Amino acid sequence: MKKIIIGNWKMNPSSVKEAVSLVSNIDKKISSNGNVVLCPPFIYIGAVRGALSKKSSIKLGAQDCFYEEGGSFTGEIAPSMLKSMDVKYAIIGHSERRARGESNDIVNKKIRALLKKGIKVILCVGEEERDETGLYLKRIEEQVKEGLRGVSKNNFKNIIVAYEPVWAIGSDASKNCDPKDIKEISIFIKKILVDLSSREIGLSVQIIYGGSVDVKNAPEIVSNGGVDGLLAGRASLDAKKFSDIINLLFS
Ligand code: PEP
Repeated sequence: MKKIIIGNWKMNPSSVKEAVSLVSNIDKKISSNGNVVLCPPFIYIGAVRGALSKKSSIKLGAQDCFYEEGGSFTGEIAPSMLKSMDVKYAIIGHSERRARGESNDIVNKKIRALLKKGIKVILCVGEEERDETGLYLKRIEEQVKEGLRGVSKNNFKNIIVAYEPVWAIGSDASKNCDPKDIKEISIFIKKILVDLSSREIGLSVQIIYGGSVDVKNAPEIVSNGGVDGLLAGRASLDAKKFSDIINLLFS
């Protein structure tokens, strides 16, 4: 399975000029056989797309999406709007959105709406903390099962599951997640996916990891963490750091 690297710019950078410069620099530095998705803020998507070279290996993703197709939903963005901007992927259920009230039910509605329009989904799951009794596994299981409720087996090929333990994300991260633990959760998620579909379908879904990924830890996470790619936040805002990670994985 070809690995994938996803960059989530979150609410950065602060101007379209910087966004264009950042994507152009990444584009220039990365190898052409990379499999890369960049998720800028909605408002920069058009400009970022315009700045990509003809042979670019970068595809565009969104950081979220609404589940209705149009109407009186001030401030929201519909799947068809993303499609019309050549957006191929959307991150759904990021922990920063869940922390602001996004339930598994809303996540599920968004996923189904995106799949209807042929946009691939990066479903983020992950626990806030690890407890001794293993309740965190229940939480991950619920996020996967409820997020994918009603999604047909045929559509599993359009899903990527990103395991992102909340305690390992961002500048407030308490520590890094050990690749051994990443591997355990990746197997756990695969088992859930197999139970929801079939052995063949479940095992073909890409599982990626996100949480303070950088140039130093990326090779070990991929080789020992049993994942098919990475989701980078902060590192994707630095053209050198992000392209170094990409080139390490696709050299
Ligand atoms: C994220 O928020 O999805 C993320 C992985 O962030 P960071 O790489 O900055 O920890």
